[in-house]
Amino acid sequence: MATFRSNEADKYSSGGSTEFFSLKNDKDTAVVRFLYNELDDILGYSLHKVEVNGKDRYVNCLREYNDPVTACPLCNAGFPLMTKLIVELYDVNTDTVKIWERGKTFFNKLASLCSRYKPLVATEFEIERNGKKGDTSTTYEIFPIPDSEKATIEDFIDDENAPVILGGFILDKTFEELEEYIETGAFPDDLPKPRTAKRTTARDARDEVAEEEPEEEPEERPRRRTAQPARKETKTPPVRRTSKRSTTERF
Ligand SMILES: [Zn+2]
Repeated sequence: MATFRSNEADKYSSGGSTEFFSLKNDKDTAVVRFLYNELDDILGYSLHKVEVNGKDRYVNCLREYNDPVTACPLCNAGFPLMTKLIVELYDVNTDTVKIWERGKTFFNKLASLCSRYKPLVATEFEIERNGKKGDTSTTYEIFPIPDSEKATIEDFIDDENAPVILGGFILDKTFEELEEYIETGAFPDDLPKPRTAKRTTARDARDEVAEEEPEEEPEERPRRRTAQPARKETKTPPVRRTSKRSTTERF
């Protein structure tokens, strides 16, 4: 394990111990519990994909559905808006809490399960992948396991292992930080990192957007963007926001 100074400790905890769930090959299966009680617990996220230190990362969109495009510097600069479901689940085989990135159509699947299994966490499900590696039309079948042992969310999640999604897996930046990203191609706290800093690569690998996982619905991939010159003089002044806020929305 890499060592770090005490003033860097917050950088480690911010991402939690997020592990990604994936089934890599056709007909792969896993037994999981979805860590929700009911439909209202499941959140969708409005996101942009940006490049940070050469890696794709998600960043929270600052715009509410009725806000003008100027409310989010990334929207205003033409970065495509994406909607994602970040599903929290417990992987029974590995005894770990993981997150599973899905397109928003997966919400319908979870809604069907929530209407039949109450609370949802109390039933184990087997997930089966149908689709070869890299196949963008891959689907997932979900089968309840009869006579699952009853359980609650607290049986699997505590302060130690709870996935940190907003502010961890999904970067949560202020209006000013996003503006600086548009102007410079980097966030203010992205200091140059020495090549030998293993902690950097470990963290990036953990939180980086998964590349290989196919979507159930094709999604427009944003073009790689390089930093753009400041265009402040020609823009109408956007709404200034100084506080971080969540734009998570329920579907
Ligand atoms: Zn936006």
